[in-house]
Amino acid sequence: MTILMAAAILFTWITSSGAAETAHCGVFDIDRVGWASTEAIKRTPGADWWIELDDRLLICGTPDSIDLIATGYLVVARPQRLTSNRMMLSLGRSPVDLETDGFRVLTSSGGYAVVLAPLFLDDPSAAAVHDRGDRRVLAPLPPNTVVLRQQANAPPALKTVFRPEVQTLVDQVNGNRWFDDVVSLASYNRHTHSPDNLNARDWLVTQFQSLPNLTVTTPSFNVSGTPAYNVVATLEGALGSHDWYVVGGHYDSTSENASVAAPGAEDNASGCAGVLEMARIFTGFQPRATILFICYSGEEQGLHGSDAHVSALSATGDLGKVQAMLDMDMIGYTADADLDCLLETEPFAQTLLDPFVDAAAEFTQLRIVTTLNAWGSDHVPYLDAGVPALLTIENDWSEYPDYHSTNDLPANLTIAMAEEILKMNVAALAALTGAEPGRLFSDGFESGDTSSWSVTAP
Ligand SMILES: [Zn+2]
Repeated sequence: MTILMAAAILFTWITSSGAAETAHCGVFDIDRVGWASTEAIKRTPGADWWIELDDRLLICGTPDSIDLIATGYLVVARPQRLTSNRMMLSLGRSPVDLETDGFRVLTSSGGYAVVLAPLFLDDPSAAAVHDRGDRRVLAPLPPNTVVLRQQANAPPALKTVFRPEVQTLVDQVNGNRWFDDVVSLASYNRHTHSPDNLNARDWLVTQFQSLPNLTVTTPSFNVSGTPAYNVVATLEGALGSHDWYVVGGHYDSTSENASVAAPGAEDNASGCAGVLEMARIFTGFQPRATILFICYSGEEQGLHGSDAHVSALSATGDLGKVQAMLDMDMIGYTADADLDCLLETEPFAQTLLDPFVDAAAEFTQLRIVTTLNAWGSDHVPYLDAGVPALLTIENDWSEYPDYHSTNDLPANLTIAMAEEILKMNVAALAALTGAEPGRLFSDGFESGDTSSWSVTAP
């Protein structure tokens, strides 16, 4: 729709602290309205500032501007007297808990909530909580921010063209095989400080060693006095070792009673089993680029395994070779029939979203939501080091009732959820690394086609 307005009366005033306080706001339903409509709403004359979160747009401005938008879009709420400098972003806390603590929840999705800080907090930024190893965040939220974007409302972009052979790779994703690995991993107490964690490490080494063409190592690091180990399986690329890709997910787990049990089926046997499943598929073929398949330890104590890997890459001068990192953390749970998946990165790595978004559209039924706010998993140390990195996580993770619990068991998972995420990731990684089913690694057969695996076209 087109929004026209003859005259706009600014209805903002300056408070004693100098911040603009806006009298009128609306939370509008923008579910799948498209990029052009979303932008048109934001440009409504008299509209002052906005925040976009999945299928909701919070927008504030003059009363007339909000009324005008309401003629074309469903009003979910009409919150009044919001101040842009008191807006905060919460991750990983329930709306009920937030309201109990005095925060006004304006809209929420995917574990994120857009909240108004309570007036008793003189300086909301002083209340900020940001531990990069924890998916519990409270941060100041600047106006005009996209927190979560529905793929249906994203700007038009060049599309990745997948060669027909990618379907052959995607078809090899086997959800039952993935689930068997989840069951095996969940049989160990994989807490970083549990002796049983080393048995899980050894099981992973055996699994990777049973695959062709992998070099497996277990570099160690230290977590509060306990030796911990990553499991790194390297698949050398056809074009030498100049371009590296990392596919990772932590295998350590935690629970409220970790000395007794920490099965961690969803967090994160699901992602580590996903790394194994992708290794099985890619070791059947020779990618042009080198792929490092890594199951990390020490994630739950603060991303120690991924930190250690980034430090090791830096020490050997190999960090610049890493073209991209793909993280899988919690890929097997869904709260409902909607198979929604969150893709999480930072603004400098935004283009890394494209092959995943395109793969999801072409090979899966996934509903994709994206964010440029990255927190709390093994993609963060790579992003901090300037390496484009992407987390794939099911979008209902914050509703999982057995998160970090002794009841985080395989029976809670939905095979189709993980299978769809793995299909997306296999297709996107094939596009990025140039893996070709026609180029069998074992006998050196080459298809003769050396053109790029992935091309873009309008
Ligand atoms: Zn995790």
